[in-house]
Amino acid sequence: MATQQELLDLTHQYLIENYGPRKRAMVRGAGSRIWDADGNEYIDFFPGFGAAGVTGHCHPAVVGAIKTQAGTLLAHGNGYTNVPQVALAKMLAEKGFGGQSFFCHSGAEANEGALKLARLTAGEGRYKIISCHGCFHGRTMGALSLTPENYQKGFEPMLPGNVKVDYNDIDALTRAVDDETAGIILEPIQGEGGVNIPTVEYMQAVRALCDAHKIALIIDEVWTAPARTGKWFAYQHYGIEPDIMSLGKATGGGLPVAATVAKAALAEKMVGGTHGCTLGGNPVCAAAGLATMKLIEDDDLLTAAVDKGAKIVGAIESAGIGKVREVRGKGLFIGMQLDGPGADIAATCLERGLIINCTQESVLRLAPALTIPDTDIDAGLEILLDALKA
Ligand code: PLP
Repeated sequence: MATQQELLDLTHQYLIENYGPRKRAMVRGAGSRIWDADGNEYIDFFPGFGAAGVTGHCHPAVVGAIKTQAGTLLAHGNGYTNVPQVALAKMLAEKGFGGQSFFCHSGAEANEGALKLARLTAGEGRYKIISCHGCFHGRTMGALSLTPENYQKGFEPMLPGNVKVDYNDIDALTRAVDDETAGIILEPIQGEGGVNIPTVEYMQAVRALCDAHKIALIIDEVWTAPARTGKWFAYQHYGIEPDIMSLGKATGGGLPVAATVAKAALAEKMVGGTHGCTLGGNPVCAAAGLATMKLIEDDDLLTAAVDKGAKIVGAIESAGIGKVREVRGKGLFIGMQLDGPGADIAATCLERGLIINCTQESVLRLAPALTIPDTDIDAGLEILLDALKA
């Protein structure tokens, strides 16, 4: 097998470096552990950048479902349906707000679907979508238009009609809505923005605002669902329901499954020919998604998210490290606000065998798999707290 350096060199030569130079070449994963091509082992507190976030790496139930489905049916045209996609859509409806699903592959695509549906259903002359400073909704042109300006440089012009306001500020949002507004898109907890949690009052006021103006409330649950925050979907913390919800990352247990989920009254406007995705809802990815959802239910991973999250937050807070100003989060979606840059601390952790993430320069993010064993939490925390104390 090629060495790590050989793989990194080949990556540099043959792949576009839109992610910057890669840090490691990964070859194997199991649960909350992952190994690089030189045999180094890591505890993964950020599995798959969220994509292996429920199940960890190569969960046997997910791998088994993939293997079985791969030997049965890999693909068919969108004019047909299949067993796992129907079951997955049913489970998403039952655990959520009864919405109907459009399946695709990435969070950005799920938001493209949401954006199109909001415009399609808003009525004549309504085309503006309001999003928030500090948000992240993806890199395709529509989703990018909703995402902050620093991600847009060099790709302008953006879609017309995007308006941005401060997160968790209902007055700013109210002022921004006008006769041309088609919808509002929000994360129920901002992820890339630094694990920012809005108030219940704000989220309820946003719902009321959308009702009053008859515009779509789109909740982007790409990071927060399923189950990461201790509820199936994070909007459930606020006593509201969205009109449209976007899903991605962990929904497929490590395979690409994303979805635009919408109330029937909106979804029914997306008639034949209005939208599509050739491989969306393909049987193998859908089987992986279904296995993931079943695992959450069967193994009570909602409770696991709450308990394990509390354990991690408690350990960090009780360590009393001066440079950690605040620990915020819900369930296993945790951000540590530092008093200075965090990239070096994340790099030190990686060197010592722990994967975490740094966002917004000074927020360290932890989003371990909901299946992570306590022994891996303890071993990972030891590395993290050591690196923070240095
Ligand atoms: N929405 C949110 C909240 C995200 O955090 C992300 C990615 O991090 C996306 C959408 C885009 O997802 P993807 O990278 O799968 O297109």
